[in-house]
Amino acid sequence: MIPPVRPLGDFPLSRSDLDRDQLSRSTPGFTAGALADPRSRLIRLGGGRMPVREDALVLERISPDDRFDADDVVYLGRTVSADADLAVGTPLLLVAQADAGDDEPEQGLEWRNPRDAAHRMSDRDAGIASEALAIAAWHRTSRFCANCGAETEVRNAGWMRACPRCGVDHFPRTDPAVIVRIVHEERILLGSSALWPAGRYSLLAGFVEAGESLEAAVLREVEEESGMRLATPIYLGSQPWPFPRSLMFGYHAELAPGQDPEAIARDEEELDDVRWFSREELLATDSEVTLPGPTSIARAIIDDWLRGDERS
Ligand SMILES: [Zn+2]
Repeated sequence: MIPPVRPLGDFPLSRSDLDRDQLSRSTPGFTAGALADPRSRLIRLGGGRMPVREDALVLERISPDDRFDADDVVYLGRTVSADADLAVGTPLLLVAQADAGDDEPEQGLEWRNPRDAAHRMSDRDAGIASEALAIAAWHRTSRFCANCGAETEVRNAGWMRACPRCGVDHFPRTDPAVIVRIVHEERILLGSSALWPAGRYSLLAGFVEAGESLEAAVLREVEEESGMRLATPIYLGSQPWPFPRSLMFGYHAELAPGQDPEAIARDEEELDDVRWFSREELLATDSEVTLPGPTSIARAIIDDWLRGDERS
């Protein structure tokens, strides 16, 4: 009997080591109080980038010269592990600005996109980056009420926007998406998007539609993109992908009984190529295939198969 597929954990952007401290958010004046608290640290985000020094996020002290409007600040939570210069319980505040600040090479400070950098960060910093990107992206597109069009007001330390006209409360949104490792007889099915540079391949993926289950989305997306009918998909794990607001659900699946693996029917609009790869092809030093970047759930799921330890 074939052993079951092993679930995966610890995807780069799924890691966290922070107490989101949800209960404090609704305390009136909480953000103003945290801004005045000398223990608090500030995290900046600008143009999708964050200040990093030696693969660690820069957590600034708040200067008395800084004048922030509490409505422009989001309370991310408080630290739960001590490190060299931060005590347990340090409040962390996010300020999103329009553009990244300047790199300061002499201080080793660089503004980096966590999409390229988070896999090198600590659990705490990867979790902060994911949370910061997601909540900032939501505020950017949620200024006006989706129900009546009036300008909304920030509440709950940045975790809600209330409409003063119709009374509807708005909360941060996430778009679910599925991504699937399809394996058949020691080969993996990968596709190359029409939007990507030639030679870049990844797992088949797509957004979950309204009123659809995750499993149904897996079966539908894969059949649409490749023509392959799958057996029941097996859940592997999830990772937030706040670029701008996805949550990726990873699955493993094998072909439905009777499905011919060579009968690929590619979605010609979305994909330039869909085909089966052996481990040897992907691992060859002269391989012309580029796999997804190291922070992605796609890469973690492919690497797990390449190592050959996907079964428990
Ligand atoms: Zn409204």
